Amino acid sequence: MKKIVGSIVNIKRFEIHDGDGLRTTLFVKGCPLQCRWCHNPESISPKSALGYYAHKCIGCGNCVPACPYGAHTVDKDGHIFHRDRCQACGKCAEACMANALLFYGQHVTPEEILPQLTADMAFYKNSGGGVTISGGEPLLQSEFCAEVLRLLQAQGINTAVDTCLFASREQLDCVIPYTNTFLVDVKAIDTELHRALTGQPNTRILENIRYLDAMGKDMEVRIPYVPGQNSGEIEKIAEFLSTLHCLKGVRVLPYHDLSGTKYASLDMQYPLAGTDTPIPSTEAVEAARDTLRAHGIKVLTK
Ligand code: SF4
Ligand code: SF4
Repeated sequence: MKKIVGSIVNIKRFEIHDGDGLRTTLFVKGCPLQCRWCHNPESISPKSALGYYAHKCIGCGNCVPACPYGAHTVDKDGHIFHRDRCQACGKCAEACMANALLFYGQHVTPEEILPQLTADMAFYKNSGGGVTISGGEPLLQSEFCAEVLRLLQAQGINTAVDTCLFASREQLDCVIPYTNTFLVDVKAIDTELHRALTGQPNTRILENIRYLDAMGKDMEVRIPYVPGQNSGEIEKIAEFLSTLHCLKGVRVLPYHDLSGTKYASLDMQYPLAGTDTPIPSTEAVEAARDTLRAHGIKVLTK
């Protein structure tokens, strides 16, 4: 039988914002979009990578012998990470007790991670929770995710997939039978604006939302609210969402700028750096929610 292997970023327990109840969230690697405000830059590339958080380094030198490629040196001035020598094997991250080195892109089988995903079964039952696959984009690894979801459902665990839906119909069909709820991002209705904000048009995304709706699948929509970027789209998004039948509710997710250290750890440029994109005011976010409510849409705030 073919071995199914996925690339993951991490697994977080006791999450309360990734669907109903208390959840464990599996973050997978690789995304077809590049949203300007992305808070998870470590998930964008499908390739494995090492994040170096210099402010956490205590200069212990444990990483030096751990690396087969000489990518770490420590001298009297401290530790230096030579990214050009790194082959992304992850060995040094295991040796770093200070969590200054984080490895993104571990290759695992569904069976290998199942014990971690099912460890909090008692909490899922008591809270109405379960397991969510997020990313990155789960549908880029649809075969791997479908198998993880299938194994979870076989144990009676509620499943959710957090997706941008920029995926082929085949990729989506692969996970539908094993997914209880889809958490779907909607960033813009204007397709050219969507392309400018994310690098891709939204035609396929909107078609996939309608497809899930026609199939009667539970959907929760998330709208990132980013002033000056997509904040002018709320009325159009509300009009679109008001035509759906299987919408459980909509969340407005206010922009924040707390991911700068993640970009720096990967030597990546933060796309919104220097654009003076403000954190939205409480009033602006509430106005966006009111726009949705005015279209008869249930707004989720907890
Ligand atoms: S193992 Fe971690 S804390 Fe120690 S020198 Fe290397 S990066 Fe710094
Ligand atoms: S991830 Fe591997 S190759 Fe890269 S620095 Fe660490 S040990 Fe060296």
